[in-house]
Amino acid sequence: MTNSFQALVVRENTDPSGAPLTAIETLTDADLPAGDVVVDIDYSSLNYKDGMALTGAGRIIRNFPMVPGIDFSGTVASSTSPDFGVGDPVILTGWGVGERFWGGYAERQRVRSEWLVQRPAEMSSLRAMAIGTAGLTAMLCVLALQDGGVTPTSGPIIVTGAAGGVGSVAIAILANLGYAVTAVTGRPEEHDYLRSLGASDVIDRSALAAPGKPLQAETWAGAVDAVGSTMLANVLAQTKYQGVVTACGLAGGTDLPSTVMPFILRGVRLQGIDSVMADLATRNRAWSRLATDLPESALDTLTEVVPMSSLAGRAATILAGQTRGRLVVDPHS
Ligand code: NDP
Repeated sequence: MTNSFQALVVRENTDPSGAPLTAIETLTDADLPAGDVVVDIDYSSLNYKDGMALTGAGRIIRNFPMVPGIDFSGTVASSTSPDFGVGDPVILTGWGVGERFWGGYAERQRVRSEWLVQRPAEMSSLRAMAIGTAGLTAMLCVLALQDGGVTPTSGPIIVTGAAGGVGSVAIAILANLGYAVTAVTGRPEEHDYLRSLGASDVIDRSALAAPGKPLQAETWAGAVDAVGSTMLANVLAQTKYQGVVTACGLAGGTDLPSTVMPFILRGVRLQGIDSVMADLATRNRAWSRLATDLPESALDTLTEVVPMSSLAGRAATILAGQTRGRLVVDPHS
């Protein structure tokens, strides 16, 4: 019996102006890094950060050679950890995997047990990665809104970067929980898609793209923002008294050209969201809620499965905002 498997390996380009060199290679268990659990990987996914890693934007990869992929789902193949046994279904997201540690673009990986969560019994491995890092982040945003006291009767929720991974999952969860959701997108062709996920209203990105007044008409009880920059500043300026704005992304830029006015005159709360270093209790809470609050039909609508061999081409499209929903990566093809 052979223990060889395929993995996408990124090697440093000695030309500093060139993109990293990626190739699908055959590895064996002896090539894998240290760790106490080996996982047979079913699926990984393509997240915005993976797009940055594969194209070399933003120096995401810290060590070469690297197997990228910031998340994966699979089954424990061997373990010396008391917390996981052979056959356990597991999920890994974050912790620097795919950046500093080898990640999910492989048929097998060896990792530290403290990075793993048990996959909820009712959730398939495919759907776990249809959710992936982006979907987990969307759930963390929803939990922050709820923890901040925002309920469906508080008013509508605005979701920016709506047709992307975080936005699509956030819309599906919020709509299922009874919130009225306004989706913001730059893609007119995705309006029907966003309504099919549960958005009750869709507005064009251009309405929030230009710098606006520090305080604008109070419109939103809460927000899920994956874009940042001027769009986040406008969302803050339009948020109702004591509303909650969750900021998780930078698809439109890392700056925040805002003022203190929404905070000091309306008590608006700006809650940062990080999925990478979230503690185990937070992760387990979010995955258990994802198993109950995200309708499978909506999740399937926003999911496309792509072969690992297509990633070199797909990476640039996610950075360009041209992918819709979530891309699940099949490492076996
Ligand atoms: P996607 O690329 O799938 O979605 C981003 C969406 O943002 C696009 O689909 C597009 O939506 C919109 N967008 C893209 N470019 C611009 C722009 N220049 N101006 C305004 N809107 C733009 O990425 P994800 O959903 O996976 O991730 C979204 C963001 O969240 C990223 O910045 C990512 O790094 C971050 N993130 C953060 C995490 C955390 O732990 N904090 C975890 C996961 C992701 P549309 O076409 O509908 O306008």
